[in-house]
Amino acid sequence: MTVRVLLAACLHESNSFNKFSAPLAHFERQGVFRGAAVPERFAATRTEMGAFLAAAKANGWAIETPLSVPPASAGPVARAAFETFRAILHDSARAMRPDAVLLALHGAMIAEDEDDADGALAEAVRAAVGPDVPVMLTLDPHGNVSDRLAAAVNGISAYRTHPHTDHFETGQRAAAMLVRALAARELPVVHLARRPLLRGFDSCRTEAGPGPMHEALALARAEEAADPDIYEVSIQSGFGLCDTFHTGPTAAVTAARRDERFQAVAERMMDFAWANRARESFRLLSVEEAIAAARAVPPGPGPIVMSDYGDAPGGGAYGDATAMLAALLAAGFPKMVFAGLKDAEAVAAASAAGVGARLSLALGGHTDPDFGGGPVRLEVEVLALSDGAYIHDGPYAKGQRGTFGPSALLRAGELRIFVNTHARNVLDRAQLRLVGLAPEQCGILAIKGMDATRAAFQPGSRAFIPFESGGIASRRGGKLPYRKLRRPIWPLDPMDQP
Ligand SMILES: [Zn+2]
Repeated sequence: MTVRVLLAACLHESNSFNKFSAPLAHFERQGVFRGAAVPERFAATRTEMGAFLAAAKANGWAIETPLSVPPASAGPVARAAFETFRAILHDSARAMRPDAVLLALHGAMIAEDEDDADGALAEAVRAAVGPDVPVMLTLDPHGNVSDRLAAAVNGISAYRTHPHTDHFETGQRAAAMLVRALAARELPVVHLARRPLLRGFDSCRTEAGPGPMHEALALARAEEAADPDIYEVSIQSGFGLCDTFHTGPTAAVTAARRDERFQAVAERMMDFAWANRARESFRLLSVEEAIAAARAVPPGPGPIVMSDYGDAPGGGAYGDATAMLAALLAAGFPKMVFAGLKDAEAVAAASAAGVGARLSLALGGHTDPDFGGGPVRLEVEVLALSDGAYIHDGPYAKGQRGTFGPSALLRAGELRIFVNTHARNVLDRAQLRLVGLAPEQCGILAIKGMDATRAAFQPGSRAFIPFESGGIASRRGGKLPYRKLRRPIWPLDPMDQP
């Protein structure tokens, strides 16, 4: 008999400190796909949904694809948008009555009035399909896994690379867990463990070579190899910019049945996380340190790439912090490019003036000058205009579409500034090509981006300098007003033992 599988994806990373909620229009800009549009759009992509669709084909499953929402980090999801997503998932699952479910979530979604939005979505699916249908879940390791989320699903698999370039492989692992569970007629159980940690596992960084995340991944593989009843040991480093009770790193052990020995595996993984909590492979520089580091890079080919993690839209920040823009103007490097500054009014003014026009603008810094600097007044020339729509063609989610909305390339002396209507991480060279930019033409390339950025821009660069400008995705300074975390929690509270 044909196995009927529901495939769905709804990914969002929420920064609690973003004062704007994300309405449905925010998601629709990047695309909210339903029904037949899902295979049309995702079948050829290296995303979780791409892998789900490939597994369906390989296994001869009959599928329904009620929803696919690609990630578009921001603040909490607006109530109406969240209820829309929840209703689509619940109602489609209830109407289909599938034999199994493959679900891709981020793990750090918050909605207005719902701190555990991922848990609520998974619970809605569970309520619709009943207790005996296997539900396998993929996550971003920057997800905060609640007990409720773990209880609502039968298996969890998070990405293992950082920058995340294994969305597809993670979808394949979830599909393989489903194939195994169906063949064995098992309903696997997730065993979850955590410690009083705001972050752990070196924020799941793998790019810097040997370090805590590589060691944790090796431990996880060894635990899997030692016990044939374990499906997967999944590691989540958590997302500290979610101000929720369940924020923090977790280990999730998917196993054939509930048993203390699997819980013990999860606890061992978290013992490792606790013991290694202060080991970090990577430090974000301040703006001043970043400028000094750029000055110290020897001359040579390729740009010096400077990435502002503290104001990265991918971390739910506003994308209009100006501290680095002002510092670059003062530093006066040759051939500087500042890419990914959100300022819809500036784009509108530049568009109205036209290519070749000169105008005076107060750029960026409008949303919250306390976090990363206020507007910078500049006389600029409009070099290029674009509709801002792009298709990823680099190592990160190749084939996925996105848009900055209307955008403009402006010039002020040695500095070119790529200004956008909507805040998006700069993480693919296709985004720069919108206005004729290429990294090779830059002496300095300063962007709003996080780890995905490294995959596209570190190769061929003279140096990659990660910094934080003081935006709301910054970890430095202890400025963020947490209210809902469980306390005490390391590193905000001094703690010698968990
Ligand atoms: Zn992530």
